[in-house]
Amino acid sequence: MVVLKAASPPVPSVNKINNGTIKPLITPSPSSFINLDQGDPEVFRSYWRKKSEECTVVINGEDLMSYLSDTSNVCWFMLPELREAIQRLHRVVGNASAGMDKHIVVGTGSTQLFQAALFALSPSDSPIPINVVAASPYYSEYKDEVEILRSGLYRWGGDAREYDKNEEYIEVVTAPNNPCGSIRRAVANCEGEGRVIHDLAYYWPQYTPITQQYDHDLMLFTFSKCTGHAGSRIGWAIVKDIEVARKMTRFIHMSSIGVSKESQTRVAKIIGVICDSYQEIGSSLDPDELFFEYSRRKLRERWEKLRAVVDKSNLFSLAKYSKAYCTFTNHTSESYPAFAWMKCKGSIEDCESYLRNLKVLVRGGKRFGVDQKYARVSLLSGDDVFNEFLTRISNATRNRE
Ligand code: PMP
Repeated sequence: MVVLKAASPPVPSVNKINNGTIKPLITPSPSSFINLDQGDPEVFRSYWRKKSEECTVVINGEDLMSYLSDTSNVCWFMLPELREAIQRLHRVVGNASAGMDKHIVVGTGSTQLFQAALFALSPSDSPIPINVVAASPYYSEYKDEVEILRSGLYRWGGDAREYDKNEEYIEVVTAPNNPCGSIRRAVANCEGEGRVIHDLAYYWPQYTPITQQYDHDLMLFTFSKCTGHAGSRIGWAIVKDIEVARKMTRFIHMSSIGVSKESQTRVAKIIGVICDSYQEIGSSLDPDELFFEYSRRKLRERWEKLRAVVDKSNLFSLAKYSKAYCTFTNHTSESYPAFAWMKCKGSIEDCESYLRNLKVLVRGGKRFGVDQKYARVSLLSGDDVFNEFLTRISNATRNRE
């Protein structure tokens, strides 16, 4: 029997297994590097620790043995309870239309679904690969994911704003955008016919006000950024066209014959816990008991602290986000993106190298298709790492004075 928990209390020792993650549990010392390069979502851990028991899933020895889940569904390896949980979550949050007229395809993270979408949207009979474009700054992994196999179906076509070929193309729109947090629309403006993949990894209420229910042809979501359970590796696509959903399913069949049912079961359970808290007992609960209230407060506090330190430093600037009315919270609020997109001021030309000198690892602008004056800093780390980051910027400011 396997018992899966959302998160169990940390093992109180150094260099031991911590909730499935081998990581030293030491508080970062001033001489150690801190890693804010990857967006590893540790920030919501204390919420899930409190919900540990509620999120427990019991899987017996004979459970989940078949490759198949629901052969009447296009995505035959998706558990019906996961499909229902995803539909329910989108109904509760109101961020995307995922009703019975849509096809949901589950993937091993939205990383696998992105590649499945490229496969499904590429013409199979074209003598030349279709161009894949995204407006810079774009999510750094798209280019590598497009190029890794040197596919004959598709190739990287660069910045969507500069795309002017008279050829078919696929545009990836990330909204809110990784790295800069802005809300985006398709921008490629050329003669060729375009198909769009909307990557909505961060279109959840903790990161940005929910201003409309999206209803695009192909939308990608990931559990990694919705709740922070990146290790479960579950993403989903909401697709209008059944043929596109079939081809995406075919791709996943060919690459991994489906998606772990243990992960699907766990994700369905955790989504159920979130939705129950809003639908059944929401009004009587302490707001911190509700996941999106807790996670938004957590990110808002981080942004407030970061802005105060950055403003004082005179070393960097940060984008300002306009306020908008959120249909989920019924309040007007700002965005609190998962990453800070920092721009160096004055004579500092390379933000990544500058921060590396402070022993802070971040991702420089070049990886996102822009110059090195910019760098992306993850705001999803644990509290210790985030606080150490603020301390290092404050110290750097003091040393310049
Ligand atoms: N799209 C965007 C914009 C992301 O930031 C990420 C995660 N960093 C992904 C996709 C991939 O997410 P997953 O963990 O589901 O593969």
